[in-house]
Amino acid sequence: MEKTGFRKNLINIEPYVAGEQPKSENIIKLNANENAYPPSPLVQKAISGFDASVLRKYPDFSGEPLKSKLALYYGLKPSQVFVGNGSDDVLAAAFRAFFNSDKPILYPDVTYSFYPVWCDIMRIPYKTIPLKEDLTIDVNDYNTENGGIIFPNPNAPTSIALDKDKIITLLDNNRDVVVVIDETYIDFGGESCIDLLDKYDNLVLTRTFSKSRSLAGMRLGFAMASEELIAYMNAVKDSYNSYPVDAVAIKAGCAAVEDDKYFKDTLNKLVSTRERLADALSDMGFDVADSSANFLFAKHDKYAAKEVFAFLREKGIFVRYFNKPRIDDRLRITVGTDEETDALINALKELI
Ligand code: PMP
Repeated sequence: MEKTGFRKNLINIEPYVAGEQPKSENIIKLNANENAYPPSPLVQKAISGFDASVLRKYPDFSGEPLKSKLALYYGLKPSQVFVGNGSDDVLAAAFRAFFNSDKPILYPDVTYSFYPVWCDIMRIPYKTIPLKEDLTIDVNDYNTENGGIIFPNPNAPTSIALDKDKIITLLDNNRDVVVVIDETYIDFGGESCIDLLDKYDNLVLTRTFSKSRSLAGMRLGFAMASEELIAYMNAVKDSYNSYPVDAVAIKAGCAAVEDDKYFKDTLNKLVSTRERLADALSDMGFDVADSSANFLFAKHDKYAAKEVFAFLREKGIFVRYFNKPRIDDRLRITVGTDEETDALINALKELI
């Protein structure tokens, strides 16, 4: 229907659609790549002991002391870290700060579906680069004129990591644009590019507390880059919301970073459950992509993904099905606890 009057000026966008958030408690939720385990007990302690009178004042505008804690943890200067309200907020600031060319930015055709949404709302031209048949990124496909590059490592929803030597080739071939690597899932496998920040002043890494640090509900993310690029992200932030990270989140985030043992133990547990689940799925005839994330991307030749999705949903097990070209034959399954994984395996055995 044609829009008239004031309706002509309303925004015309297709928003990002997040995974279903079912209300029932009695379900197994493996559809949003949330962490199967709760955050560190130190986070609980920090929140329980939080002095509400502090909320009278604005929080630190740059997320201190969390920013400095992250800088120390990753061996960077605090001025090389940007803290935001989830990595979606951090990525949105990066898109605004770095992708201002008339040339298209490049990202894989199968990737995080928020990227086209930001391009749309910020009017950034873009071009998608097809993944290879085996769902991997070929960095040589990125040797074309562009206004910037972004991809997740490991990629989502494929779960496949890109080797660092290939990333170095991509960076060497793209010195005149900003390259953003979305390291949302890097703690579960793959190799971080933090040590490349010294050499490549056009490299930006984004991270989140939502996955490996079990804080999706807190909304905390951060970026690491040269001081110069971080200053640009701060300028963007200060142009729409000076205080994206609240005082409670800063405290909780600090506590999560302090408990490194809990962090590493949780990662180890999830990685071993992931391997067990991958083996079980392969034994049932699934083709499972080689995952470096906290989820698997699997397909079965004899059972349509959509039907497996519906069958599991009936049983109260929620996984993610994307009704999109190239990936509508696969399911994205978040790695749960061992009990959740057993329930999933048993349900699938009933079907297969
Ligand atoms: N990047 C990728 C690749 C993701 O899968 C997600 C999670 N949906 C995000 C960024 C955003 O995560 P958050 O905003 O919770 O930090």
